[in-house]
Amino acid sequence: MSFEGKVAVVTGAGSGIGEAVARALAAEGVKVVVADFNATTGEKVAQDIGGAFCQVDVTDSAQVKAMVDFAVAKYGRLDYAVNNAGISGPQDAIVNISEDDYLKLIAVNQHSVFYGMKYEIPEILKTKGAIVNISSILGLVAERLAICYVAAKHAVAGMTKAAGVYYAPEGIRINSVHPGFIDTPLLAGLPDEVMNPIVSAHPIGRLGKAEEVANVVVFLLSDKASNVVGSQYVVDGGYTSV
Ligand code: NAP
Repeated sequence: MSFEGKVAVVTGAGSGIGEAVARALAAEGVKVVVADFNATTGEKVAQDIGGAFCQVDVTDSAQVKAMVDFAVAKYGRLDYAVNNAGISGPQDAIVNISEDDYLKLIAVNQHSVFYGMKYEIPEILKTKGAIVNISSILGLVAERLAICYVAAKHAVAGMTKAAGVYYAPEGIRINSVHPGFIDTPLLAGLPDEVMNPIVSAHPIGRLGKAEEVANVVVFLLSDKASNVVGSQYVVDGGYTSV
């Protein structure tokens, strides 16, 4: 897919979907900056794939800018960014959710994508590359107990559309990916009475795999997706089609 010599930054790449994306890009020959809050997991992934680890808290705009500067200083260019880091957040009725929990979820899942694109785009304009923002099926439909997550993931879809149409004439492509429930540490610890209905809501009859999301991300970054701009790619085993 003509990835040779290209450079990517992937946030939240120490675990789950971000890790799978980092591994898939590296397998295509991309030099990957593994950006994560968690130095233990991030360092390990970077070492495994021959990439470079960058510790970042994506809620801090100065650290996100430093992450982009790190990628350019290390590899000389930036072609791709995958703004993936996220958390699941409070599961409750709005009246029971604290303002602090709301603000934290929005900072990690929404502000991070704004900061990411703000600092990645000037570099990616130089290389005419692409960005993928990781939203969720809950960026397209609601879940009754996940109002903060639903809000942030809809915002990610909206920012992707707005930035995508703004920058398309300048030769870079920005799209979002909307996974269904994926078997990653994000879902760890959910009891069977919660997990079983989640699984059966997917017509495919199982949770998705991080690698299945990564395949779509890699496609969207590649030149094969040259006419795909501001789009929302659903990877959900049929969840939102029912
Ligand atoms: P995950 O396995 O928990 O991985 C997320 C990674 O992001 C972790 O390494 C985590 O570090 C890191 N992270 C958390 N907060 C951060 C911060 N402030 N700054 C930098 N890194 C931070 O989660 P995942 O399931 O792969 O989810 C990845 C993305 O996909 C998220 O945006 C999520 O909302 C989205 N998504 C997931 C699912 C799903 O079912 N899994 C479905 C739809 C969408 P720690 O190890 O320190 O926590």
